[in-house]
Amino acid sequence: MDKGITRTEISTLGEFGLIEHLTKNIEFHNASTILGVGDDAAIIDHFGKQTVVTTDLLVEGIHFDLMYTPLKHLGYKSIIVNLSDVYAMNATPTQVTLSIAFSNRFSLEALDEFYEGVYAACNRYGVDLIGGDTSSSQKGLMISVTALGEVTPGEFVTRNGAKKGDLICVSGDLGGAFLGLTLLEREKKIYLESPQIQPDLEGQDYIIGRLLKPEARKDIIEFLGEQGIKPTAMMDISDGLSSELLHICKQSEVGCVVYEDKLPIAEDSRQFAFKLELDPTACALSGGEDYELVFTIAQEDYDKIVLSEKVSVIGYVAEAAEGARIITKGGNTHEITAQGWKAF
Ligand code: ADP
Ligand code: MG
Repeated sequence: MDKGITRTEISTLGEFGLIEHLTKNIEFHNASTILGVGDDAAIIDHFGKQTVVTTDLLVEGIHFDLMYTPLKHLGYKSIIVNLSDVYAMNATPTQVTLSIAFSNRFSLEALDEFYEGVYAACNRYGVDLIGGDTSSSQKGLMISVTALGEVTPGEFVTRNGAKKGDLICVSGDLGGAFLGLTLLEREKKIYLESPQIQPDLEGQDYIIGRLLKPEARKDIIEFLGEQGIKPTAMMDISDGLSSELLHICKQSEVGCVVYEDKLPIAEDSRQFAFKLELDPTACALSGGEDYELVFTIAQEDYDKIVLSEKVSVIGYVAEAAEGARIITKGGNTHEITAQGWKAF
């Protein structure tokens, strides 16, 4: 991990020295951040806005594999996955806290690399790191991030407002992160069996980037705001489109119909899926971690969204009794399940 460069043991700094080291250059982006790192608690003033809170825990070996995840990317992604949840509420993220536990396998240089990614995400999205906690662990790395955001009272969007006849929209494209993961897992397996073989990642930057360096769709929330569109329901796509659609259907007490030929899949993802003899549609439906947004809008908002290249209309909201269904390119109808859809 230290690639032969300097290795500074964390023990040379001590806990407080480490916290000071990791947080000394913080500059705030938000007027709502009244007090940040350095006291018993941070202070936030949301000036009459409503506050959104969300938290995520990332555990080494469960959520990430350091064999193919650079620490800087991991730091970046730890922040992004939380910001994505805030945007999915139609809110603007403003502050994050970050807690980490790490074994003595991690040097100061390794933590610095991780925090480089954290601060890159904070700067890009204009959020302030205002606190956290630091601990050692017996084994592995654990990361817990909490994000706070603000929203004009009543403007937040939940999962339960989808109405029959609404249009179902998704941002960006789907399945890429899953294919990136499949590729890296395959190369890892080959490497473990034959370490002399160099990993073959040639030409697969897109899908690898989708997994290791996801972005949160701040631009979509801004676009919706500019167009005066308030989605009736919204979620971010972390587990996979089918799983998220089923959540919206259940909580909104509706059904849905989506069209296979409308699912946005990048050409790079499609090509790689074919190479592995995977069905690109199944990857788009069930592959997780794309951190795109899925949302429903009233039909009268269609004209405002149709010209956006960032958003695809993939289907419509139906009655609960109709269930959740996908219509294939061949015109067949299948039930959507959390794993994709039931076997053809
Ligand atoms: P306490 O004993 O109250 O938990 P700490 O000594 O753990 O306080 O933390 C001191 C300050 O540093 C607090 O503001 C805390 O939020 C912040 N902090 C601790 N660990 C981290 C970290 N890993 N990243 C950012 N801020 C941190
Ligand atoms: Mg503490």
